[in-house]
Amino acid sequence: MNSSRRNFIQNSVMGTAGLGLGIASTTEVSASTLPEAVAPETTVDVDVLVVGGGTAGTIAAIQAGRAGVSVLLMERNSQLGGTMTTGGVAFPGLFDAWGKQIIAGIGWELVKECVALDEGQLPDFAKVPQRHWQNQVYINQFLYAILAEEKCTAAGVEIAYYEFPQAVTKIGDGWQVDCVGFGTRRRVRCKQVVDCTGGAEVVGLLGLPRLSEQERQPGSFLFMLGEAHEPGRNQIHRLYVHGADSTNSRTATVANLTGRKAILNKVRQEQKRLMHLQPETGFRESYRIEGETLITVQDYTSGRLFDDAICYAFYPVDLHTKSGVKPQALKPGTVPTIPLRALVPKGSRDLLVAGRCVSSDRLANSGLRVQASCMGMGQAAGGTAALAAKLGTTPLEVPLRQIHELLRSHDAIIPGDA
Ligand SMILES: Cc1cc2nc3c(=O)[nH]c(=O)nc-3n(C[C@H](O)[C@H](O)[C@H](O)COP(=O)(O)OP(=O)(O)OC[C@H]3O[C@@H](n4cnc5c(N)ncnc54)[C@H](O)[C@@H]3O)c2cc1C
Repeated sequence: MNSSRRNFIQNSVMGTAGLGLGIASTTEVSASTLPEAVAPETTVDVDVLVVGGGTAGTIAAIQAGRAGVSVLLMERNSQLGGTMTTGGVAFPGLFDAWGKQIIAGIGWELVKECVALDEGQLPDFAKVPQRHWQNQVYINQFLYAILAEEKCTAAGVEIAYYEFPQAVTKIGDGWQVDCVGFGTRRRVRCKQVVDCTGGAEVVGLLGLPRLSEQERQPGSFLFMLGEAHEPGRNQIHRLYVHGADSTNSRTATVANLTGRKAILNKVRQEQKRLMHLQPETGFRESYRIEGETLITVQDYTSGRLFDDAICYAFYPVDLHTKSGVKPQALKPGTVPTIPLRALVPKGSRDLLVAGRCVSSDRLANSGLRVQASCMGMGQAAGGTAALAAKLGTTPLEVPLRQIHELLRSHDAIIPGDA
């Protein structure tokens, strides 16, 4: 497909409503639900419950499913991908450092397939880019969300949209997690929980310690404006929403209302058409866990190889403030690592996190939170939870060698391997 055709399709998808087009065709499928699906209450038993089907959680669930355990993936929104899809930050990075791929595995498989199906292009990782963002991968957010569902289904993962945990109780060697959705009350009994909610919401429900800053980094609403009758411009704009706080539904509502109001003002002032708007603010920062270890910015910038490292990470230190962002590049050759203990809430059993809530100080987190690292953490957490469920133990008691073997067999790159 040539690039003008690709742009045309992209703009058509993005801008159909804005252009006021009629419905060009109708196709049909049938969604069949089992009779018991309409009952308002349900109880399920699974080995692993992954909460949050975003960047990290999707990969965690697929890995756990592929490792042969039963998995429920719970997502409070209506699609997978989280910040990558609902937030619209559809440029995952960084999978490479200093001319070499450093993060692969299930996340990379999904990204590669998404780019191939969209007839896009992957960066050449053999080339060290001038600017870090040049090796981010541009993906089609809509396709990514659908491919993620396909891979979950193929791995035997059950998906529960529109639901979230309300109460989490330790029972014996596992958990009872009481969840709600509209028209649904679900009791989940499981052996392991993986919290991939971005802000460690399950950890918060359990009353375990979390770290946060008084002033959070701004969130961003992504949108696109175009000239009337000139839909060819596909420059994404970013509106910084200072004070955006995803702590709860009330604070997130304020961020969304504030962002949309400002965008409406812009449309009126600039007299341009609103061609595209993500459904919600992308939140950069809320809570991080206090884990069995905490990754400091010194650990991060020195490329410390932790003895229980489960994946690499790579990105400049990238703190957004009211005066913008000035990324601080890592020194040549430096590749930070993420230890398993940073995914384990301090003093907990049968519980892991993955994603931007990883136990880390604020500056280390500003680099660790990017999507490729979240995917690497997700795969490691999903694999570890699956092994812990199979062995009837807790994540930190699973032999590290076994975790590494499982991850390698699913194409992940383990720090220290040649
Ligand atoms: C504006 C912006 C720009 C960025 N730019 C880049 C970039 O250029 N490149 C890059 O690689 N990274 C970038 N990042 C960082 C990166 O996108 C995020 O840090 C990362 O995607 C976070 O992944 P996650 O899995 O931790 O959380 P998310 O992807 O946000 O997923 C969390 C999921 O959990 C769900 N959830 C939350 N609470 C609950 C609950 N209680 N129950 C059920 N589900 C729940 C959410 O709906 C969501 O789907 C950016 C982030 C933002 C916000």
